[in-house]
Amino acid sequence: MGESAKRAVESLVRTLGRGKVVSDPEIVSLYSREASGLMGEAWAVVFPEDAGDVGAVLSIAYRHEVPVYPQGSATSLSGSSVPSGGIIVSLDRMRRIREVSILDSLAVVEPGLRLGDLNMELSRHGYMFPVDPGSVSVATVGGAINSGAGGMRGAKYGTMRDWVLGLKLAVPDAEGSILEIGCRTLKCRQGYDLTRLVVGSEGTLGIVVEANLRITPMPEAVVYGLGFYKSLEGVVDALKAIKEAGVQPLIAEFMDQESATISSRRLGSPIRPEGHLFLVGVDANREASQRMASWIRSVLESSGAAKVTIAGSQAEAESLGLLEVRRGFFAASIEAFRRRLGRRDVMVYIEDIAVPPSRIPEVYEQITSEARKRGLHVVVGGHIGDGNLHPTVGFNPEDPRSRSMVEEWYSKVMEIAVKSGGTISAEHGIGVLKKKGLQMELEARGSRKLAEIMTAIKRAFDPKGLMNPSKVIELGT
Ligand SMILES: Cc1cc2nc3c(=O)[nH]c(=O)nc-3n(C[C@H](O)[C@H](O)[C@H](O)COP(=O)(O)OP(=O)(O)OC[C@H]3O[C@@H](n4cnc5c(N)ncnc54)[C@H](O)[C@@H]3O)c2cc1C
Repeated sequence: MGESAKRAVESLVRTLGRGKVVSDPEIVSLYSREASGLMGEAWAVVFPEDAGDVGAVLSIAYRHEVPVYPQGSATSLSGSSVPSGGIIVSLDRMRRIREVSILDSLAVVEPGLRLGDLNMELSRHGYMFPVDPGSVSVATVGGAINSGAGGMRGAKYGTMRDWVLGLKLAVPDAEGSILEIGCRTLKCRQGYDLTRLVVGSEGTLGIVVEANLRITPMPEAVVYGLGFYKSLEGVVDALKAIKEAGVQPLIAEFMDQESATISSRRLGSPIRPEGHLFLVGVDANREASQRMASWIRSVLESSGAAKVTIAGSQAEAESLGLLEVRRGFFAASIEAFRRRLGRRDVMVYIEDIAVPPSRIPEVYEQITSEARKRGLHVVVGGHIGDGNLHPTVGFNPEDPRSRSMVEEWYSKVMEIAVKSGGTISAEHGIGVLKKKGLQMELEARGSRKLAEIMTAIKRAFDPKGLMNPSKVIELGT
């Protein structure tokens, strides 16, 4: 730690008190790793308890010119939560729900609140916050906003971009200013849409200290259908039949046979996959749910599904473990590569492309063939309803040749997505792992100038380049 860093940490302790600043290296290292397995280093972790504390931290960081890394639960899979020398700002102690207004379709909450806890509270009113990443039980509101997170319900409800009405953002300047951005009304025309700009900005513009979230009623009933297919074409045919019937699925999820089998076994579920897994959920009113259940069964069977299981309600789907098996995809991928490589310590790269659902079978073919060419094995799952695929590859982190093969494949997958009319990241964000991919996508679209505009925006919010530096874009590109 250099002199300026030491002075910054001393100033933080003086201003916030010892109880809110931790500089014990052992503890700091626990906060320096994210779920992707990437590890960084930091000088201290600060635990603000309100917006005023966050403003004070950013003002001190600005004066001493030290980097700041905002952190929720560090479940990022893109390298966006990894520090590289500076101060981690954990929002863990800012978990309050300030207001729930059913009439205004609004919840006002602090950034460290877990999405699962928010939903627990909203369910008492028959409402929900619909964005549901697989990590929903621990993912925080601030982390989800800044990752631009999505989840299983993305097919119907989109991503965080669609559910944040406004926010308070602390920015790095001498005063530690807190900007009120956007509105608390559903309609809002406040000049340029800076709310949607901050959503998905990965902590590179400021720290979200409060959010106005749009909420929606819980569906009256949801009917689920699960089936297994010999080919991905069958899965896409089923999705097509559902959409052509004018039905918008609540969820439409895919797992290849290997990941589905491992996930099911890990969870002790009775589900025994006989092919690729397709799980579809459709909301309906209570009276229509039985008719919907038999319709889903017939769609799945006529598109070639084996072993169709129907759950006539959310409770039945949960008790059969249908959703849990799909939520277990990431853990199942790690398990798959541990077995294949015969070691516990594996590194797993999870892709996050989105392509038009109509192109999924050909994209899947190209991705797996590029993996085979490099001697790699790939497991695939995804939110097929919105074309978001998570092809995943694991390797021995101590083997530089494997790592370089995997990195080459990872770039190739992003190229395939862009060439197929898709994008390099649907919901996990750019972080460090997709920075080159972002430049590639902008260039492929002839939109290089956008990189300059993004850099100018970053400078306008963060002139000294202190907020989560080296993520998303490099200043100077
Ligand atoms: C098993 C598993 C399943 C997952 N499934 C999904 C999925 O289905 N869909 C999906 O989209 N993602 C998924 N993820 C990725 C990740 O969990 C989500 O993006 C989640 O929303 C991140 O929340 P977090 O609190 O862990 O954020 P963190 O990882 O702590 O932070 C993410 C980013 O936000 C920034 N940040 C955090 N809080 C703030 C704040 N208050 N102000 C400014 N910046 C902030 C961080 O600096 C970082 O750039 C999954 C991850 C795992 C491990």
